[in-house]
Amino acid sequence: MNFEFTEEQKMLRKTARQFVDEEIIPHIQKWDAEGGFDPAIWKKLADLGFMGVCIPEKYGGSGMDYNSLAILCEELERGDTAFRTAVSVHIGLNSMTLMQWATEEQKQKYLVPQAEGDKIGAFGLTEPGAGSDVAAMSTTAVRDGDHYVLNGQKTWISLCDVADHFLVFAYTDKSQKHNGISAFIVERTFPGFSSKAIKGKYGIRAGNTGELFFEDMRVPAENLLGKEGEGFKIAMAALDNGRFTVAAGAVGLIMACLEESVKYCHERETFGKAIGKHQLVQRMIANMEAGYQMSRLLVYRAGELKNKGVRNTRETSLAKWQACDFANKAADDAFQIHGAYGYSDEYPVARFLRNSKAPVIYEGTREIHTIMQAEYVLGYREDKRLSHMLPEWPFE
Ligand SMILES: Cc1cc2nc3c(=O)[nH]c(=O)nc-3n(C[C@H](O)[C@H](O)[C@H](O)COP(=O)(O)OP(=O)(O)OC[C@H]3O[C@@H](n4cnc5c(N)ncnc54)[C@H](O)[C@@H]3O)c2cc1C
Repeated sequence: MNFEFTEEQKMLRKTARQFVDEEIIPHIQKWDAEGGFDPAIWKKLADLGFMGVCIPEKYGGSGMDYNSLAILCEELERGDTAFRTAVSVHIGLNSMTLMQWATEEQKQKYLVPQAEGDKIGAFGLTEPGAGSDVAAMSTTAVRDGDHYVLNGQKTWISLCDVADHFLVFAYTDKSQKHNGISAFIVERTFPGFSSKAIKGKYGIRAGNTGELFFEDMRVPAENLLGKEGEGFKIAMAALDNGRFTVAAGAVGLIMACLEESVKYCHERETFGKAIGKHQLVQRMIANMEAGYQMSRLLVYRAGELKNKGVRNTRETSLAKWQACDFANKAADDAFQIHGAYGYSDEYPVARFLRNSKAPVIYEGTREIHTIMQAEYVLGYREDKRLSHMLPEWPFE
């Protein structure tokens, strides 16, 4: 066990924090209100090596370890959840899945430009009738010569209008249920592909989220990821990585709640003293600190297991569940500490609270993770080593 950050990790945090302080925080209120951010941010993220932070250098990435990805997510979400969500789908759900399951040709074609930041990746699993119950999906893929023809719809897809590449899941054989789902690498330019943003979102308003439509979309057979029927397994393995980034981001949101709350506790006075001197306010601060410390330990443990090449579905699920719940509570308390001023956009805490809600829903709802944890403890659920594990760190 080692609780120390490496020099490289410390440097990454410093660089990411400076980036967030200079490039995100001064603009975020406007971006959140307008619903989108300056696309120039993507190039800046790429120039810093963030778009492929934990992807091996031989595939265009920065070659850092998985806890470095966590540090990046913490720092980005301290700025705004939209940026961490972007990294969650681009790296956690897409690039890391390619790293784990793709052929060498697929890696060269799709992973390398994603890790270098030239292309953006996203992840299309959810459908109007299939969220937690993935196997209820109705998108189909039918083999036609050297192509598959996809028909269906996905919804609530982060970066739907922005990403160049998508991992898309569809039934190749519905009779096989979970074992009949396959995974495909889809390019936005494939004929039959279209997307549409969802308007009027409660939170993560600076981020782009929406629907994907596939109408007789022809996908080359070589874009099948893994084998036919392995899609469900691939999606679940992808979520092990996506959830890790969501959990780490939640730690960053708690950090932001603490920063704003501590500042306000010293500024605001009631009954002749700073509100930080009132014990009931102190309780909220103490709970935030406890949530922050416990969450980050859970996240780094999951990261360490990833570094060692060990299956970590159980540990990642626990980290995601707890960190997102703590962040949601921390944001609520940060709002409370600000009293009526929390209600205005003069302070960022209302945005924190709005942003804290989606992570309790996406990549496994609070209820799904609760059930998973109970099932592990009761012995109803057990994980085996996957046929394709995430590569150990240091990379070969
Ligand atoms: C901002 C945002 C971004 C997203 N980005 C993506 C993305 O990039 N890609 C993607 O594929 N998806 C994305 N999603 C979708 C997200 O993953 C789903 O919303 C999530 O999986 C839950 O599915 P659902 O909304 O259909 O809820 P449902 O599955 O319909 O659940 C509704 C309620 O019932 C509860 N419930 C369901 N089943 C059970 C059960 N067995 N026991 C107890 N309670 C249960 C749930 O916990 C929830 O409270 C995003 C969602 C949001 C809000």
